[in-house]
Amino acid sequence: MPVTRPLRAILNFAHRCAMNCEWCYVPFGEVPARRDLMLSIVERIAELGFTSITIGGGDPFQYRFLPALLLRAKSLGLFVHVDTHGKNIKQSEENILLIDSAVDLLGLPLDGSTQEVHDQMRDSKGHFDLVSRRLNWLGPLCSKVKLNTVISAFNIDDLVPLSHLVASYVPSRWSIYQYWPVGPAVRVVSKHEIEDFIFHRETECVREIYANKSTILEINSRDSRRDTYPIIHHDGEMFVHSQAPANSFVPIGSIFASHALENILASCITERHAAADRYIRYLKPTAEQ
Ligand code: SF4
Repeated sequence: MPVTRPLRAILNFAHRCAMNCEWCYVPFGEVPARRDLMLSIVERIAELGFTSITIGGGDPFQYRFLPALLLRAKSLGLFVHVDTHGKNIKQSEENILLIDSAVDLLGLPLDGSTQEVHDQMRDSKGHFDLVSRRLNWLGPLCSKVKLNTVISAFNIDDLVPLSHLVASYVPSRWSIYQYWPVGPAVRVVSKHEIEDFIFHRETECVREIYANKSTILEINSRDSRRDTYPIIHHDGEMFVHSQAPANSFVPIGSIFASHALENILASCITERHAAADRYIRYLKPTAEQ
């Protein structure tokens, strides 16, 4: 029987980020994250029946308590996916051991095949080189690496060259996301908006290139991301994407509320098709199945 409820929760740090990507959808400015509250949120996510967690926002690796958070999530049986811009990860043996033992999927950004394109997309000089260093360092763990690319009107012409660069790193997965003017990202709509048919046409070319590659290609249009998961900020407040055609976040209360699961189920259905197999081997049978 197909799964009809969301099994993945997104936990976003929404205090601050060392990057300033102009199309970022995280509404920064909240109070700093607290270790005890973060651990409680992770426990609550598991208690509510989620089997996967994606930890993102600005930037998980800037927090000293991140190892404790990852280890707790892992000990609760969650599939642990962390997205990072890479600046705060020290290339240490300690971090290799941490990723090896407590992270199932580590996402890093790559938005251009050249320094010029990537650094302009990320508004961060030198970031292309930094990501390249991190990917070389993570080489032995490439089966856990997922590369994330935001495609907008600004970098669409670079997509094919980028597809060859991504393939050279042999990540386990390459996720392409259509720019979505949701939340704060709406401020750059005139620069980045890309029409759906152009996004689909260009990404189909990449699908052909990846037909025989070991890297799994995942193409995510903006609307495919609606209705799929709750987004939880580090203070425990939950949000979901608004219904089409609106592009905003709708608050649905605290994850600690007694009716939190009902609120989530009223807004989220299940994982989108393109992303489902990121976590599929970790789905647990339930009474309903
Ligand atoms: S690195 Fe991620 S969280 Fe930080 S500003 Fe960029 S998109 Fe937002």
